[in-house]
Amino acid sequence: MKYPVVIIGGGLAGLVSSIELARAGIKVLLIERKAYPFHKVCGEYISNEVRPYLEHLGLNLDGLGSAKIIRFRFTSPKGSALETPLDMGGFGISRYTLDQALYELARKAGVDFQLNTSVQNVVWQNGHFGIETSNLEQVEAEIVIGAYGKRTRLDKQFDRDFMKMESPYVGVKYHIKGNFAKDLISLHNFKNGYCGMSAIENEKFCLCYLTERSNLREAGSIQEMESNVLSRNPHLQEIFSNAEFLYDKPEVINEISFAPKDAVENHILMAGDSAGLITPLCGNGMAMAIRAGNMVAREVGEYYSGHHSREVLEQSYAKAWQNEFALRLKVGRNVQRFFGREVLSEMALGFFKMTPPLLSMVIKATHGKKMEA
Ligand SMILES: Cc1cc2nc3c(=O)[nH]c(=O)nc-3n(C[C@H](O)[C@H](O)[C@H](O)COP(=O)(O)OP(=O)(O)OC[C@H]3O[C@@H](n4cnc5c(N)ncnc54)[C@H](O)[C@@H]3O)c2cc1C
Repeated sequence: MKYPVVIIGGGLAGLVSSIELARAGIKVLLIERKAYPFHKVCGEYISNEVRPYLEHLGLNLDGLGSAKIIRFRFTSPKGSALETPLDMGGFGISRYTLDQALYELARKAGVDFQLNTSVQNVVWQNGHFGIETSNLEQVEAEIVIGAYGKRTRLDKQFDRDFMKMESPYVGVKYHIKGNFAKDLISLHNFKNGYCGMSAIENEKFCLCYLTERSNLREAGSIQEMESNVLSRNPHLQEIFSNAEFLYDKPEVINEISFAPKDAVENHILMAGDSAGLITPLCGNGMAMAIRAGNMVAREVGEYYSGHHSREVLEQSYAKAWQNEFALRLKVGRNVQRFFGREVLSEMALGFFKMTPPLLSMVIKATHGKKMEA
């Protein structure tokens, strides 16, 4: 089987790039390990930076029941709180619903899918890619877009530098119901971690936290950690005591890394988390993945219009990616140092209370301008 473009991974970056390429008349195969719809560890708050663009793609975000979010609350492990309006704001929608809606748009645009199929290796030879999949089919492609998320076995095969570094974080997510404000995103700190909560569709809320693996190891289990560590923050204690938890067990992911990555690796154009994951406290990874999906499709479109050679395509994409995202990732990594540290996050909160414009500046530095439709 031969395709001009194969996309590995059908999260936001993969789905958006597939829609754009198919609408530009380029034949695309998207290979996704799972089948839609499915849940993902993600805080499910999306910055309005990409709202007009998603609507332009054809998503009816109001129709899908997304919640409008206009306020941000930040609490320290001891429970002190700071609240601020969000200049740009955002919306809440589950990945279960959002990814399914984008998948439907991609199908309509003519994207071919192989679902429940995992890419196991990609080999670059004589100017073409050979792609090995779990269904043992060999696929050939001229261009491969790597949109497979934070970390997979492929990263090991490509010998990527970040795989040699420590990845000490664990992410946990629930959907819950309860009597909470719908227009507010909260970020509650606890020892060695932080937990976000915001409304999504159907009167539900997403509760999602990131913590160091050592916290879990010391506590012995997720439940013990939630009772003995997270619940020391009184705001989290209230949530864990009063909310209705809608899953039998949480969604969990391991070995999360925020180390820098390269946007082009082994001639593969990486988009979304596979090119670099911003710390979740910035609430902006999804907007970045959507933007990167659009950006990579634009560059590949230039290549197929004959404006770019492959070499220029790779250079131009790597440069565009750096210009758009490198600074945000750096600010995100630096800001994360203040979170989950009992004394530091208390100090940061006190400092932001005294100088509210500084908090707006940090939020701005981790977000982009509204994306043109
Ligand atoms: C704890 C936590 C909370 C977060 N909260 C927020 C938030 O509130 N707001 C926000 O904007 N961002 C948040 N993020 C970040 C956000 O989730 C990601 O940045 C975003 O999902 C990236 O999209 P993506 O398309 O790059 O990857 P993904 O959405 O992860 O998609 C990758 C896809 O590739 C598939 N795949 C993987 N390997 C293979 C393979 N070998 N073959 C085929 N398919 C494969 C996977 O099944 C998956 O569907 C959070 C992240 C974490 C860890």
